[in-house]
Amino acid sequence: MGCNVVYWNRATEDVYDVIRGQMPAGWRLVTLAGDTKAEWHAQIRDVDFMLVADWAVTEETLAAAPRLKMVQHQGVGHERIDKQALKARGIPLALCPAGTTIGVAEHTMLLILAVYKQLVVADTKMRQGTWLQWGLRSTSFELCGKTLGLVGFGRIGQAVAKRAHAFDAKILYHDAFIPVPPAEAKAWGVEPVSLDDLLRRSDIVSIHVPTTDETRKFMNAGRFAQMKRSAVFINTSRGAVVNEPDLVEALQDRVIAAAGLDVFEKEPINADNPLLRMDNVILTPHISAGTVDALMEKMRSVFDNLQRFVAGDAIRDRVI
Ligand code: NAD
Repeated sequence: MGCNVVYWNRATEDVYDVIRGQMPAGWRLVTLAGDTKAEWHAQIRDVDFMLVADWAVTEETLAAAPRLKMVQHQGVGHERIDKQALKARGIPLALCPAGTTIGVAEHTMLLILAVYKQLVVADTKMRQGTWLQWGLRSTSFELCGKTLGLVGFGRIGQAVAKRAHAFDAKILYHDAFIPVPPAEAKAWGVEPVSLDDLLRRSDIVSIHVPTTDETRKFMNAGRFAQMKRSAVFINTSRGAVVNEPDLVEALQDRVIAAAGLDVFEKEPINADNPLLRMDNVILTPHISAGTVDALMEKMRSVFDNLQRFVAGDAIRDRVI
């Protein structure tokens, strides 16, 4: 059966080509033209499947797609999808954990090292004609021997631990649901600790939890105050897990030393966000999982899942 799959997001032609490259023969990718919701809705009347990235899926959108049979997320953060509306129509939603873990884990390492070695300052100053061979020496650090505290020890937390272990860092973690490390992680010498302990002992705190009622604004003024003044905070999970004004204040007042951030309370970030003017912060525009390798692996996985649905088999990573 040839199915119509809408990519419920705007992407570039080269991204669409990667997606088409993994589609079963005879299936059609619907790419959205125009700039308004009304225009997009008019183009999804005949779609069988919706492939979702970070756009919201509302009742109104579902109403515009009367033939829709399944919604497949290409990631795992499904907070912008109206699950009640899907349930009401009996449409299943599946996630795709494949493809994100390595990209986010590598990006976390990138941010840690970039903050520690002041990569952006070194590059910017050099282009401006300033050779900082000695100028950064007293404020640059190595990861080896430092303590990395991971808040959340799921797929991404564990992948970060594996990489940080190769850098000879000491690794602590706090996870509400994983009291002891899985066997492989045990071999890296990771230590499960209380959140208080983790914040107090870590040189770097990196957060890898989903957005839930418990984790919303999880990192706040009180928790930043528990961290070392020399500590670095890394966030590659979701902007919602941090109280951003509290983080800005902690960085401005040097309650903590620096931060590496890929995700923000509001995305794209507002032009007047003070983080954009702070020299102790490295920022990236939510690109942790945005690699071609990740996209290809994701597309293999999502089309495999949609084909399972078509064949009447159980779909993987089903939410509803
Ligand atoms: P996961 O579900 O494998 O791991 C999350 C871990 O957090 C779990 O082990 C869970 O027990 C733990 N947890 C949940 N609530 C907690 C709490 N209150 N306190 C402590 N621990 C808690 O998810 P994952 O694949 O590791 O992804 C983690 C998050 O990373 C995702 O939820 C998503 O928001 C984010 N993410 C970001 C990007 C990006 O591009 N920046 C890409 C993919 C995922």
